[in-house]
Amino acid sequence: MTKVIINGANGRMGETLLRCGEANPGIEIVAGIDVGDDLAGVVGQTDAVIDFSFHEATRPTAELCAAHKKALVIGTTGHSAGDKESVLKLQSEIPIVWASNFSTGVNTLFWLTRKATEVLGADFDLEVVEMHHRLKRDAPSGTAATLAEILAEVRNVSLEKELRHGRDGIVGERTGSEIGMHSLRGGDVVGDHTVVYAGNGERLELTHKAASRDTFANGALRAATWACAQTPGLYNMENVLGLK
Ligand code: NAD
Repeated sequence: MTKVIINGANGRMGETLLRCGEANPGIEIVAGIDVGDDLAGVVGQTDAVIDFSFHEATRPTAELCAAHKKALVIGTTGHSAGDKESVLKLQSEIPIVWASNFSTGVNTLFWLTRKATEVLGADFDLEVVEMHHRLKRDAPSGTAATLAEILAEVRNVSLEKELRHGRDGIVGERTGSEIGMHSLRGGDVVGDHTVVYAGNGERLELTHKAASRDTFANGALRAATWACAQTPGLYNMENVLGLK
């Protein structure tokens, strides 16, 4: 039985995690924490904290976990470089599973994206398109950012230099090395991601569509149980699923 605390418990993902956690015989929910609640007062009672809250909340949550030697699962996205760096330093103290997406399908998409990019080579132009519900606050999505990181890594180019967020005006012809990124927002879309490989005379598109948040919640709960059996370090969902 893995004891977990959900941080961001009143949000869309928090409510889904509480519901899926209660239905999971391997999970005991110790507490649901949201703005105004005292995580420090209950963190000692848990095995792991699952954070799906707000980017500014992850760093203090991670510091509390490190102080109490508790495993941490981070689903929150939109962190600044400074926040990321502070949290990453704590990997020497506790196991941290940090994933921009906890669904099995998207982690398979990450794997397929790596493979397709290797196989297709430099003749194909790379673009990432994502769509999410109208209430999402950050853009592009953390998952789209991970896809772009995979593309840049396999192509051996600097993402900072080659990423093009949308296009507007006289931007000139597309270069072979740029990686396009396009964020669509609207309705109640849970999360769609497509990687486009556009070549001469053919186009390959790898698409994942999430229809329910349960897939993220169940993945994060699985990650929490897995994390509790690991030594301190930084892991992602591909590690949890045994994909790498
Ligand atoms: P949401 O806005 O519905 O919920 C966020 C919750 O966090 C709110 O209840 C808010 O009050 C709470 N919160 C804010 N600051 C807090 C703090 N300091 N301490 C505790 N709680 C705090 O958002 P959501 O749709 O549930 O998404 C939450 C986060 O998870 C976002 O960053 C989103 O991008 C990310 N997300 C990740 C995945 C994944 O698989 N990794 C999937 C879906 C969403």
